[in-house]
Amino acid sequence: MKIKANYVNAPVWKELAIKSTLPQELECLDEIAHNLWWSWNYEARDLWRSLDRDLFEKVGENPVALLEKLPYERKEECAKDKEIMKKVKNVDKLFKEYMAQPVDKSRPSVAYFCMEYGISQVLKIYSGGLGMLAGDYVKEASDSNVDMCAVGFLYRYGYFKQSISMEGDQIANYDAQNFNSLPVVRTLDPATGEPLVVDVPYTNYMVHASVWTANVGRVKLYLLDTDNEMNSEFDRPITHALYGGDWENRLKQEILLGIGGMLTLKKLGIKKDIYHCNEGHAALCNLQRLIDYIHEGLTFNQAIELVRASGLYTCHTPVPAGHDYFDKDLFGKYMSGYPQQLGISWDEFIGMGRTNPDDHNEKFSMSTFALNTCQESNGVSKLHGWVSQKMFAPTWAGYWPEENHIGYVTNGVHFPTWCATEMRKIYAKYFDKNHLNDQSNESIWHGIYNCPDEELWATRMELKNKLADYIKIKFKDVWLRNQGDPARVVSLLNKINPNGLTIGFCRRFATYKRAHLLFTDLERLSKIVNNPEHPVTFLFAGKAHPADGGGQGLIKRIYEISQRPEFLGKIIFLEDYDQQLARRLVSGCDIWMNTPTRPLEASGTSGEKAEMNGVVNLSVLDGWWVEGYREGAGWALPEKRTYQNQGYQDQLDAATIYNMLENEIVPLYYNKDEKGISAGWMQVVKNSIATIAPHYTMKRQLDDYYDRFYTKQAQRFAELAKDDNKVAKELASWKETVAQRWDSIYVVSNESNLTEGVATGKEMNIKFVIDEQGLNNAVGVELVILKNDMADTDREIKRIVPFEVTKVEGNLYTFEAHYTPSQAGAYKTAVRMYPKNDLLPHRCDFAYIKWIG
Ligand SMILES: *Cc1c(COP(=O)(O)O)cnc(C)c1O
Repeated sequence: MKIKANYVNAPVWKELAIKSTLPQELECLDEIAHNLWWSWNYEARDLWRSLDRDLFEKVGENPVALLEKLPYERKEECAKDKEIMKKVKNVDKLFKEYMAQPVDKSRPSVAYFCMEYGISQVLKIYSGGLGMLAGDYVKEASDSNVDMCAVGFLYRYGYFKQSISMEGDQIANYDAQNFNSLPVVRTLDPATGEPLVVDVPYTNYMVHASVWTANVGRVKLYLLDTDNEMNSEFDRPITHALYGGDWENRLKQEILLGIGGMLTLKKLGIKKDIYHCNEGHAALCNLQRLIDYIHEGLTFNQAIELVRASGLYTCHTPVPAGHDYFDKDLFGKYMSGYPQQLGISWDEFIGMGRTNPDDHNEKFSMSTFALNTCQESNGVSKLHGWVSQKMFAPTWAGYWPEENHIGYVTNGVHFPTWCATEMRKIYAKYFDKNHLNDQSNESIWHGIYNCPDEELWATRMELKNKLADYIKIKFKDVWLRNQGDPARVVSLLNKINPNGLTIGFCRRFATYKRAHLLFTDLERLSKIVNNPEHPVTFLFAGKAHPADGGGQGLIKRIYEISQRPEFLGKIIFLEDYDQQLARRLVSGCDIWMNTPTRPLEASGTSGEKAEMNGVVNLSVLDGWWVEGYREGAGWALPEKRTYQNQGYQDQLDAATIYNMLENEIVPLYYNKDEKGISAGWMQVVKNSIATIAPHYTMKRQLDDYYDRFYTKQAQRFAELAKDDNKVAKELASWKETVAQRWDSIYVVSNESNLTEGVATGKEMNIKFVIDEQGLNNAVGVELVILKNDMADTDREIKRIVPFEVTKVEGNLYTFEAHYTPSQAGAYKTAVRMYPKNDLLPHRCDFAYIKWIG
């Protein structure tokens, strides 16, 4: 036998996961690391840092990864360190006390659905404002002890990480997350104790979703994940990327979120009073809810009464790209099995997502489906509420925008997350002890007036220095890598000056946000930033959606300008805006600037974060700032649109900003006394903290949702569902009868004195006799008077005059209206008939209208 040169068989590798363990003294830290409570409690963050500051930073401030990577010897050292153990015991005590508080059962319970949640930069399942808002909301639900759970996705790649090439092009990198090193735990199936798997139907097969729980204080956030070996290569990517992929993947995501989300809650045995769709993405949860009721034996018409009564839809943007429309063929590919289960036709089903249900060319809109399956809907600021009323008005063709039911709750931000520790120490000193539990009470915030200017100024300087240091440390390597010329990078870093006036402009780069406005007149801008006595620095940050060429073009332009010698270190673009960078920026600037095209900024929230840190807003009167702005507490660009031409309007707005900076803002900031403090500036800061900040906390937002929607909806739902859904069935049957007879209800006669001429001071009398076709007092009649001196599109309602029933004879109802006009002018009138029933929450709930005269 010839001897071979080598002879080896293949090794049989056994997987060996070395679990990290903790010395007994530190065992409590495992649970705390796996509860995102630490993300808004600075005592906990401080503790992680003291275990190993460098490692904590290296692992991206992720305590789960920290405990995993920390060598056992260091852990033992910590267990023997008195200082550290004191912190451990304190944090453990705070955590246990917090978790022990019982849920407030007096308020309705809520299931909250959203595509993204911004809870900590460690959990990359958010892109921008919508996610931040949802994350803040869940945190506040925990702080306020309400009974809430939330549903979302655990993305493998999340949103992209941004870097900028030497030419100023945005580069999007997608990093895979290792779920085992994240502050999430596998959700267990209560029936088996095994990891929960939810089977979600997709036409003729199932997608199997793993479920993870992110503990957010006392609230559980369930995160679905399809990237597992049970699924085919076509379905694993459903939860890969946030706002990535094509329309088909988006539809598959929304099926997973809505239908998969509801099936998850069902498997966990969770039922809530209210189902809140945060954006239309989640609206299919109502489809599953319909099916569940129908399986219980209800008809479609009965089921939808219950689903609507307990459904709320929040719309977050008037920008069309924020609303999903699915082509009917694509929609049919995945949804064709549902009509049969619902007991309705395909056309009826897809019609629930159409403004004009009979228009076969219309795509299926998630927003419209949400409107049709939720009793209530809202915008996210007062102005946006009105914009949404107009945007959605075609859904209820018989009513004018101001008549529909769309309401609003102005967005807020979670105070303990966004208020810097340094500022919290000031508040702890000058505010009532109870201020965290009574955040909307403005009088408490007036305590800031008792804080001496020197102390507040020093704190502001501390935060400005912290931001400058953060930029120098965090971006040095990034810039050396990406920007070439090391001499220029060093010069840039040296120019960062925390003593100068610093203005931040950080947000998504969508073109309507007009980040370019400032660069309309570069010569003038250069004079402002390079004033030797009064220098000004602008910090820009934000991502553009990878498919948004316009937004990426803006980044490129700003980047190019920032590289010019006269703007080096004066206009700075900071890559990869995320929650961590945002926390530094909203506390470390002096001014927070926002220049959207009105009224496209639905709310905006970063300016609210700035408020609670003593950072003053300079913004267009759009979104929340229309409500928030107070004179002497910040700056507002005028509300009125002067030019129809957007180019002219931009130039005018830019000139206004330059003027404000040159004549007001810069001089005020630098009007310093011998101690180096500007008393005038401190006054503006104090005014903004005292009079604006208290109205934009997440606590106020949560309370508003209860006051305006949850509580009254839960009461009405209970009424409908009582005694085996008795009232829901009655209402459904009444609607069916009205709908059947609607076209046969007719006007028997009508008379009025209008032909004799109408004049101010002279009473108009109108009388209709209507045959209600056996219905019992089921219709209302009203006279609509319009101003007729305007263009057709913005015709305004002058008055609605209700008719009264003055006589009933068998099927014949006599209606009469009287109205005495007091103002002369050109008007138009018409009379409309509508279904009338005290059980209806509002007219648009059953928006049948018949114009009868
Ligand atoms: C707050 C926040 C936003 C939203 O800010 P807007 O002012 O609403 O644009 C976006 N991204 C991050 C990282 C944030 O922290």
